Amino acid sequence: MKQINKLLVANRGEIAVRIFRTLNRMGIATVAIYSEADRHSLHVQQADERYLLQGSSLSETYLNIDQIIAIARECEADAIHPGYGFLSENPLFARAVAEAGMIFVGPTAEAISLMGNKKEARALAVSLGVPVVEGAVGNTAELTDKAGEMGYPVMIKAASGGGGKGMRIAWSEKDFRELLESTQREAKNYFGNDEVYIEKYLADPRHIEIQLLADHHGHILTLYERECSMQRRHQKIIEEAPAPNISGSLRNKLSEAAIKLAGQIGYRNAGTIEFLVKGDQFYFLEMNTRIQVEHPVSEMITGIDIVREQMMIAMGKPLSFTQNDIKINGHAIEARIYAEDPAKGFLPSPGKVHFHKPPSGKGLRVETALGDHGEISAMYDPMVSKVVVHGATRETARKKLVKSLRHYVLLGIETNIPFLIDLAGTSEFAEGNSNTNLVEHLQQNKKSFQHDILQKELFAMAFLFAKPEKTRAENSTWQNIGYWRLLPDAHLLINREPITHHYFYHNPHHLSTENNHMRKDYRLVERSDDTLRIDVSGNVHTLYYHARNGEVYFHHEGVTAVISHARHLGRETLRAINENPVLEGESIVRAPMHGTVVKINVKEGESVAKGDTLLVLESMKMENKISATAQAFIKQIDVNQGDIVENDAPMIILTDKIMH
Ligand code: ADP
Repeated sequence: MKQINKLLVANRGEIAVRIFRTLNRMGIATVAIYSEADRHSLHVQQADERYLLQGSSLSETYLNIDQIIAIARECEADAIHPGYGFLSENPLFARAVAEAGMIFVGPTAEAISLMGNKKEARALAVSLGVPVVEGAVGNTAELTDKAGEMGYPVMIKAASGGGGKGMRIAWSEKDFRELLESTQREAKNYFGNDEVYIEKYLADPRHIEIQLLADHHGHILTLYERECSMQRRHQKIIEEAPAPNISGSLRNKLSEAAIKLAGQIGYRNAGTIEFLVKGDQFYFLEMNTRIQVEHPVSEMITGIDIVREQMMIAMGKPLSFTQNDIKINGHAIEARIYAEDPAKGFLPSPGKVHFHKPPSGKGLRVETALGDHGEISAMYDPMVSKVVVHGATRETARKKLVKSLRHYVLLGIETNIPFLIDLAGTSEFAEGNSNTNLVEHLQQNKKSFQHDILQKELFAMAFLFAKPEKTRAENSTWQNIGYWRLLPDAHLLINREPITHHYFYHNPHHLSTENNHMRKDYRLVERSDDTLRIDVSGNVHTLYYHARNGEVYFHHEGVTAVISHARHLGRETLRAINENPVLEGESIVRAPMHGTVVKINVKEGESVAKGDTLLVLESMKMENKISATAQAFIKQIDVNQGDIVENDAPMIILTDKIMH
């Protein structure tokens, strides 16, 4: 048995913060590592010691085994916790930590290697009589034949794949060859291993997983299951425990299969065995040999701190409870908040956060590394935080989730919060009838996640009520407001879209609207630096706001908007917004998000047509084409390939004049 006195977390963001919290309770000293981009992250502030990683790319920083081990040695840490992602499932890292004489809070390198190869893990499951989805291995010709025999659709998977990468669905023989090759290419690029296999694609399965704890003394327990069927593009977004509508017999069968698999490989650590489920039939999917993003829901229903158990196991202590001691108490649901814009096809939305006020309360956990303000960097995963709620019943938890999401204030960047509120409010989710395609299905049946008219009106009124800015006397948004107050119309940009807002001015605290002879009164009840309370015909609404560069960011019940006076942006931008097919005058093409310019397709002096790609901006590992909104000439290019640009940074100037 070995004592751990000081631990380095080889990770960043919310999971590092979460691990530190338990270590603090256990009296273990904490060490953070961080990249330059993470300088202001809470995970850096909350550690007892912090070390800057040299370099900027991922492989130079959070994936740099040598550098991380050197730091751990230097600060005399006796253990390393890998978190999830990054090096957490890299057997070379587990081995390097052990060879450096430190404790790796995880399983052996051998167990990681075995379970890290999905093909081998499948074979192991088959050998133990654990069901797997019908599948096949082999060379290209063999796989093509077997896919035909099995019948389409077929899923092509990279043996080393993970995180939704290295996975494609072939709907017919026609596209099988091409998809096979592209999966191999992607697998080679991302995982350095082009090995693939195929599986029958199940229609609308559920994803249910078992949380395990296994110690060095042969004890393996489960913290029961989690339902993770609410996914977008095969990535989890809402998870819960226990799984709704699960039979006792299915729960037992999943637990038995999970324990059998972990036992066979002498697993120790917390771990998760994932299954696909159709009715009462289940299929082994993969094992994750690390802590998972969604672990808090299991903690909330069992009262067990999984990170603490990981630490005890790593120190060689036997589990201090038995299966019978673990009871399910109530229901827990987690929602992942991502920096992406649901109104724009989930485009990544990294950038500066001006105001962050997560909800708080009993039975509510918000896991995040973002302080009151800060930045969501385009370099990393777009997850901002996790909202985890607990209730006596599933319905109480669900209602609490919706309420918490409505009270989650985050201004400056777009998030998927409105989308999560919608999802959690659907009858399908309320009834617990989810499957892995439900989210996509709901999305298709919903037109958009744009604001409704009433919400726009409230935002517009809030803008007119908001506190005057003291700086910049001339040309400030607030001066303009004073001017409009005399007028029944305000020309505003809501989320950069022009609207004309008709209203009546009574006094600075009382405005009204009239639609179809229905009068609505808006009264300012209270105004502080960041909050407005507005009485709308007897109902008081709370809005949060933050003014910045002539624009005001608002939050109301989970929905955000950025508003400015239309005149403030100037004619060119307005014209660009209106997407005139032929440009008049000049227009500045700005970066729609923080990112890296990976390719510039045009040269100064060239002409472009509406829709032509001007340049490609990479943000959060996604390439985004920036195209011309009108026919124009390239007057000036202000960026170079490889440049990192801020949100709204000017990149290219377009003009209607021929260039010589
Ligand atoms: P990753 O390791 O990239 O997360 P997984 O193998 O865990 O990939 O699968 C992720 C998700 O992909 C599953 O939760 C499920 O939604 C979908 N999926 C995987 N295999 C199949 C299959 N054979 N049939 C239908 N859906 C599948």
